[in-house]
Order: sequence, then structure tokens, then C-alpha cells
Amino acid sequence: MGSPFLVGHHPNCLDHDPGQAHTDRPERLLWVLDALGERGTEAETPDPIDPAAAAVVHDPDYLQRIQSVCKQGQRVDGDTVASPGTWPAVLAGAGAARWAVDRSLETDGVAFALTRPPGHHALTDRAMGFCFINNAAVAAEHALDRPGVDRVAILDWDVHHGNGTQALFAERADVAYLSIHQSELYPGTGHVDWTGIGAGEGTTANLPLPEGAGGPAYRAAAEDLLEPFLERFDPDLLVSSAGFDAHEADPISDLSLSTEEYGWLVGWTRDAAAAVDAPVAAVLEGGYQPGLLADSVAEAACAVEDGTPAPPEGEPIEPARRALDDAREAWPALADPVDPQP
Ligand SMILES: [Zn+2]
Repeated sequence: MGSPFLVGHHPNCLDHDPGQAHTDRPERLLWVLDALGERGTEAETPDPIDPAAAAVVHDPDYLQRIQSVCKQGQRVDGDTVASPGTWPAVLAGAGAARWAVDRSLETDGVAFALTRPPGHHALTDRAMGFCFINNAAVAAEHALDRPGVDRVAILDWDVHHGNGTQALFAERADVAYLSIHQSELYPGTGHVDWTGIGAGEGTTANLPLPEGAGGPAYRAAAEDLLEPFLERFDPDLLVSSAGFDAHEADPISDLSLSTEEYGWLVGWTRDAAAAVDAPVAAVLEGGYQPGLLADSVAEAACAVEDGTPAPPEGEPIEPARRALDDAREAWPALADPVDPQP
């Protein structure tokens, strides 16, 4: 079964310039646009957000401060470097995230915000890990403002844990955060035992996977953990924090997904969301080898439009099986239906 695959991209996202030696390069998006163009997918151009709209997830003082950091082209930390083009880029990226919500609701398909810099490490008052504005969080809050959307699930399969997104929604019952990431990788958060706090207890679910876990572990996670979670949480919209940096040829990680397995993962995300009547608003996170990123996104577009390919074959390796067992133990709190009127 096929669904529409829409792409939103604003050229301002090419102007973020963290320097020649940085891995977040504009070529990432240019290669993806080329690959999508070859298959006839043309990007729409979403409007950037007004800075005040970012205050729905970020501290207003932080937004003022980071705007001036960008103007001056300052380094925030070892990884996170601003340039004068960064501020227009992040406003355009957040605008694309909101566009993805609106278009996915309109079409019941997958709308993909092709943006940079990424967003899922950004905290309410801190830029880190290449990220300045948390696009997934902007998307989730925007979705909750739309009629008929009372609950949103954020599924983050970037190879790094989205500490920023987790922190922003840790106490929320109306936003679930689910992450599959490589254990012990940057930023070191995302332990399996962390399941949220206060009203948000049970709405955070982390699956840290060991090196080499590969497609079989993702398939097992999808079937045994994520599908039951989504069924019980019953979101009205799924935000996908789509990072393509778990690719087997990506030198920064070791979770070993192939290009074809990324196609399956995106197709499965659409299918799992459709099973609970939720459209998918996806935002690009990582994926720093332009050629691999372009191939993986093109594969994803095929999977959404033409039908999900067969899942990865084989059994998870032993350390991955243990990680899945640990998650099954840690996630039972999630087995109870969440109160729809928190
Ligand atoms: Zn990443």
C-alpha cells in the first residue's frame, strides 16, 4: 500500500555554515534534493517561523541569546558552531517542521522536512550537538494546536539519543518520546530505565542498542516494543525524528543499517502510524555522508510510495537480544493505557 511522500525544504537551510571541517555540510541536503529530483519528487518551500513561535519550546532569553551568537558566528561548544546564516536556517528548519505537520494531516501520508542543522539535542535553554532549535518539539507542539490532535508520539531513530526532546516532554502525558539509539554514544543519555516523570511517567521509552545490532534488532524492536506502545498510546500524529546516521557505512556509529533497511524502517514507521490512524510528520536529524543520506532518503520515498519492503531477516545478535529483553522489562509501565484526559 502506498502513501504520498512530500518533501519540504527551504534554501535558507543551506546557509548554516559551521565551517569546512564540520560534518554538517550543505551538500547533505543538495545530494538528497538531487536524488529525489531524479525520481520526480520536487520539494515544496515552507515558510520560516517567526522567532516568537519558537518560544513554544525554547526559553525567550535563550532565543535572544542564540540569535546574537549566530549573528557573531560564535562557537557554542566543540560541536556546535553558529554562523550568520544559522539563524535564518533554524527558523526555516522549524518552519519546515510545522509544514510537515500540516501537510501530513492534509494528505494522511508522510511529509518530510529536509532541514539542517538537526534539532533533537537542543534543550529549552541550550544549543548542543549541532542543534539550536528542536524541530521535532516544534512539530509536536504545533500538532497539538491542530483540531483533533490530542496526543503526539515522537519516534526518534537517529543513532544518537535525543536528549533535548526527551527533556522537553519528560513530564508530559500528551507527548510520548520513543528512541532507538546506540548505547554509550553521544550525548550519553537515553538509559532503558528512564521512562518519564510526574504526569509523563510511562510516556518515555528508550531502547539503547549495542554495536552491530543491525536490522534484525530493529525489526524485533518494531514488532515487540514499538507497535504495542503505539497501539496503547494511540497518538493522533507521529513525529519522526529521522536520523540516517546508523548506516553501516557511516563512520560515526556501529548499528549497521543498510540503505535497504532504512527503506524498510521508514515504510514500517508509516505502516505503524497508519495502524493507529496517525499521519507522519518527519524531520531530518543526522546522516552526515551525503551520498548515503541521499540513497537512504530515496529508498525511504520508494518504500512510502510503492509499499514497505520485506523486514530485515535473521535473529538479533546476543547482546542486542539482551538489550531488547531489558527494554521489555523496563517498558511494562507502558503496557497500561495512558489516561486520555491527564
Ligand atoms: Zn545523530
